[in-house]
Formats: sequence, C-alpha cells, structure tokens
Amino acid sequence: MSDCIFCKIIDGDIPCNKVYEDEYVLAFHDISPKAETHILLIPKQHIVNLMSIEEQQWDLVTTVLRSINKVVAQENLEGYRLITNNGEKGGQEVFHMHWHILAGKDLPGF
Ligand code: 5GP
Ligand code: ZN
Repeated sequence: MSDCIFCKIIDGDIPCNKVYEDEYVLAFHDISPKAETHILLIPKQHIVNLMSIEEQQWDLVTTVLRSINKVVAQENLEGYRLITNNGEKGGQEVFHMHWHILAGKDLPGF
C-alpha cells in the first residue's frame, strides 16, 4: 500500500530501529514508546486489522504471533503485554495490522 507508513518501513523507504525480521514479519521499536520496551510486530503483507481479515489470511496471524518468542528471547524480556488495536474506535491509528509488545518496569495494571 503506497500510502501506508508501515509498508514504507517494510520497503525501507522510512527508517526504523529494527529488532527482528524474517520472510513474513518485521519487528521494530515504536517511535513513541509507551513502556520501557515498546516493540511493534507487523506482517509484511498489508492487512488492515483483525476486523477486515479474510479467511485465508488467518494463518499469517499465527505466523506473526509465533515470531514473538524470537523477539522475546532476543530482547531478554521476562514478561510482556501484547496489544492490538482494531479500528478507529479501537484506538488504531496506523491501518496496517500490528501488535504492540510492551515490557519493562512499571507496566501499569488494568
Ligand atoms: P496504533 O495506535 O495504530 O495501535 O499504533 C500505532 C503505533 O505506531 C503508535 O504507537 C505510534 O507511536 C507508532 N508509529 C507511528 N508512526 C511510526 C513510525 O514512523 N515509526 C515507528 N517506529 N513507529 C511509528
Ligand atoms: Zn501497510
């Protein structure tokens, strides 16, 4: 998607602080961290969010989620919180499906 910030990051047109990459996913530090560690995990395929996902794309969700353990091991995280915002009313601002991996001290309870 030509006007998608995260697609531009995947294509290398916008720089990012990369954490992990393979054929299907990219993980990088959030530009405006909300926790000591705040990593964004995204599929390389442009999918808007879980609300708009098509039946044959669910396997990709599993693929993305399976890569979390690699990020967690690499970054030595002792625990983490996973958040995905879906739709404007769900707080989504970038409409390329992504998961926030939040970790570190003083993670607030909710
Ligand atoms: P959302 O609200 O859509 O769930 O989260 C989007 C996240 O993307 C926000 O936490 C925001 O800080 C982050 N973000 C937006 N633009 C950029 C960017 O250009 N680079 C990086 N690394 N993060 C971004
Ligand atoms: Zn995109």
